[in-house]
Amino acid sequence: MMEQHRLAELKEKHPLLEKVMHREEVYWLNPLIESANEGFSKLTVSEAEVKEASERLQRFAPYLERVFPETKQSKGIIESPVTAIPSMKKKLEQRYSIAIPGELLLKEDNALPISGSIKARGGIYEVLKHAEKLALEHGLITEGENYSKFADDAFRELFSKHKIAVGSTGNLGLSIGIMSAQLGFEVTVHMSADAKQWKKDMLREKGVIVVEYEDDYSKAVEEGRRQAEADPLCHFVDDENSLDLFFGYAVAGERLAAQLAEQGTIVDADHPLFVYLPCGVGGGPGGVAYGLKLAFGDHVHCFFAEPTHSPCMLLGMMTGLHDAVSVHDFGLDNETAADGLAVGTASGFVGKTMEPLLSGCYTISDETMFKLLTQLTDSEGIRLEPSALAGMTGPIHSIQASMKNAASKNATHLVWATGGSMVPEDEMNLYYEQGRK
Ligand SMILES: *Cc1c(COP(=O)(O)O)cnc(C)c1O
Repeated sequence: MMEQHRLAELKEKHPLLEKVMHREEVYWLNPLIESANEGFSKLTVSEAEVKEASERLQRFAPYLERVFPETKQSKGIIESPVTAIPSMKKKLEQRYSIAIPGELLLKEDNALPISGSIKARGGIYEVLKHAEKLALEHGLITEGENYSKFADDAFRELFSKHKIAVGSTGNLGLSIGIMSAQLGFEVTVHMSADAKQWKKDMLREKGVIVVEYEDDYSKAVEEGRRQAEADPLCHFVDDENSLDLFFGYAVAGERLAAQLAEQGTIVDADHPLFVYLPCGVGGGPGGVAYGLKLAFGDHVHCFFAEPTHSPCMLLGMMTGLHDAVSVHDFGLDNETAADGLAVGTASGFVGKTMEPLLSGCYTISDETMFKLLTQLTDSEGIRLEPSALAGMTGPIHSIQASMKNAASKNATHLVWATGGSMVPEDEMNLYYEQGRK
């Protein structure tokens, strides 16, 4: 816990803190948000870097198509469908006794190829970027060539002399592990105590070295970083600070814009888009939100969703203290079944970057996540992991709080489903049963 007088000061400044500390579900609007253009001018990141990431993923598409047959249909592009969920909308309306006049969409990153979670965006991108750098340095490829060559023996031999490491609660480890092992790198995943057994098993099966820690996520990252720093041939994927992860995630913005345009969903001044993103350390939702702001400007309103036991980004942004505070400073235990979101301290880089762009944050209890998990399965036949349900109460909060024109029939509410398809069936059945109780 933080010192009492400091805490008292913060509570006086931010009355919502009392409820956050009591693990109540809260909805916080960011007072520092600015117009998108003003916001962009304050950032250390730029649109050019997102474009670069997008082009790099294009270059690698022929390679991905060659080594991951599940990307054949999309020609090596790792993307997920946008699905209307009208039956779930009815369930939500009944459950919360409120009308959702606009449309409710689900962005199914649970169905992303290769690693079945939002981490297939940033995580795979960072590994590919590193592989490209090495291949260029060693004269194995030029940017204009067909990148399907990356599957050739000469490349695998080069990468086998190099290492990649990451600290993770699970899904980032899966993405980094699967992609790195496929390219031929020696890859180590440092996993926190809350990481699921099946994720460790799956990685070991693919030849990934898994190091387990008794401690939480921050410890696994710290240890991974320390060990990697001592080895010049090791590239550490830094979930808390990586720009490459961030830009890989941000490419989602232009992709979603194209998908919505194709299906005839209008986003403009009269047709606002509200997007709800589950948030752990912040890289995934932060990168995606940045990409969305680039694509839709002031017409998109982005929210981060966190467990009531782990609201690290909410606490960091609300107090302005960012990564200088953890949920433990506020008497919270960081224990949640939403393992991708069990993060005690948010990324300072993401929190500061989001300051002028994010509409707000809200929290959700594990119990609510499980109930919604079961309801989504029953109503739409879509199975998500618990974390991925965090976005689902966003429309309710925004409408209840009369946030902008959230209650307009022209509004589109998009819930970002962040993972699920890799979860083994028996594990998923347990989740479903838990939500039915
Ligand atoms: C990682 C993850 C998130 C959050 O991403 P961060 O970059 O940690 O904020 C959300 N949902 C799932 C399923 C995840 O794996």
